[in-house]
Amino acid sequence: MNHESARSGTAIHTEVSSAAKKRVIFCDFDGTITENDNIIAIIKHFNPQGWGTLVKDTIEQRMSIQQGVGDLFRLLPASMKEEVIRFSISNAVIRDGFQELLDYCHEEEIEFFVTSGGIDFFVYPLLQPFGIPQDHIYCNRADFTGERIEILWPHSCDEHCPNGGCGMCKTAVIRRYPAESYERILIGDSITDFEGAKLADQVYSRSHLTLKCRELDLPHHEFATFHGVVASLKERQHSKKEGI
Ligand SMILES: [Mg+2]
Ligand SMILES: [Zn+2]
Repeated sequence: MNHESARSGTAIHTEVSSAAKKRVIFCDFDGTITENDNIIAIIKHFNPQGWGTLVKDTIEQRMSIQQGVGDLFRLLPASMKEEVIRFSISNAVIRDGFQELLDYCHEEEIEFFVTSGGIDFFVYPLLQPFGIPQDHIYCNRADFTGERIEILWPHSCDEHCPNGGCGMCKTAVIRRYPAESYERILIGDSITDFEGAKLADQVYSRSHLTLKCRELDLPHHEFATFHGVVASLKERQHSKKEGI
């Protein structure tokens, strides 16, 4: 739907006021929609030699996410496909309030995207009950046809990304929704969200992302469940309408 059409035939301005901007949400998956990080859970569970250093180097940003995650999965033989898929799906827990957030987005016509640094074989099955259109879910893919599990990156960084090794580049997705017309809201918890958070108008954060937002002085709202996110979204919308 064209949001301009709702503005009673007045002249179309290139910049809309903040109250008229259409909200769009970019929501992380691992550690955000699910309570824990599924990649870390998989690698801890199957415990291949050498994973600890790779995780540490990635989290401490000495290694790009794309490199780190790619190297981690290459530690596992592709023959473990069924076990890895079964474990990741049975292990994950969806955070409280996720359906309420989706319902609120539906009512308010907020576009909702899952922007995940996770992998298709657990992201799609775990989201399946929620009916999110496939083209609103961005994640990486796994190839089990070789000797080792190989991660594929269908949404890697474009030339505008300052990071360059995101794997699934959240900034590339966010930049398709220009700040002049959209209020860009990011929900996340960790390193895959750092670059996107710098672009967003509002950040809902947990864990490492909260610390990063404090460090960079980015506006953010800490959350524990999606019920809290919905309450805050409602409150912000109310304040905007009141012109506060
Ligand atoms: Mg995460
Ligand atoms: Zn990127």
